[in-house]
Amino acid sequence: MKKDQLFTRRRVLLAGATAVGAAGTAGLLAWGSGDKPVRAAAPAAGAPARGVPLKPSAYRLQPLTGYGPPRTAPGRTPVRSEPMLKMTGRGRTMVLTFDDGPDPRYTPGVLDTLAEYDVRAMFFVCGEMATDHKDLLARMADEGHVVGNHTWSHPLLTSLTRRQIRSEMTRTSEVIEDGYGEPPRWFRAPYGAWNRTTFQLGAELGMEPLAWTVDTLDWTAPGTGTIVSRVQDGAGPGVVVLSHDAGGDRSQSVAALRRYLPRLLDSGYHITVPRRQYT
Ligand SMILES: [Zn+2]
Repeated sequence: MKKDQLFTRRRVLLAGATAVGAAGTAGLLAWGSGDKPVRAAAPAAGAPARGVPLKPSAYRLQPLTGYGPPRTAPGRTPVRSEPMLKMTGRGRTMVLTFDDGPDPRYTPGVLDTLAEYDVRAMFFVCGEMATDHKDLLARMADEGHVVGNHTWSHPLLTSLTRRQIRSEMTRTSEVIEDGYGEPPRWFRAPYGAWNRTTFQLGAELGMEPLAWTVDTLDWTAPGTGTIVSRVQDGAGPGVVVLSHDAGGDRSQSVAALRRYLPRLLDSGYHITVPRRQYT
């Protein structure tokens, strides 16, 4: 299949997704219209993916002030001061996200399960992984998933210079555009470590910052059953779930998805991906 055909199919799939009204809201993803935005109140969970400890305060959602309508040139997004943590909207809608890949050992298993249940998810990929596995990016595009930028080498961005951060983000967006067919519209800082520079550069590159609501802590390999329980216990309207399809042995993460996904669907959850309204 040609790339163009893949992306046509992808757009058809995405056309069914509910639009996100990001304007005027922050710290969350708004779904559809007519729903009152609800500000996420709980601190974002978020253990570092690779063992770098951060103070809990680094994740706390601060009240947001001073945001009007987006003041952006085309292709840019508003410069935010906190990442989005969850969605709002009608019904039991959730987003599943998988970070650090793609990894040919685990990502195909995740994709197979998502395909089996006709579910779309988000993959926050690292450039150094993606550059060697563009076939997996193409498959994500073909199957309607959303690919986000998770930097090139998964550094602690808050310890880098602006120039280094720019390089980490720009190179990754280029690889994604090459393999996936379009540049990423979402960005997630490794370890949930954001700063003003990351928000500024992300906006410059046309990306919105997305964190998560529920951290499965699957990177600690706590056992498949524990990962399943964390997702099920954390399930709720608007919840964004963090898991990993790379960065270590992720066989538990792959196995857990096979168990919790059908259960979430049986419980009436609609698993989907966000789509930005104003782009
Ligand atoms: Zn990560």
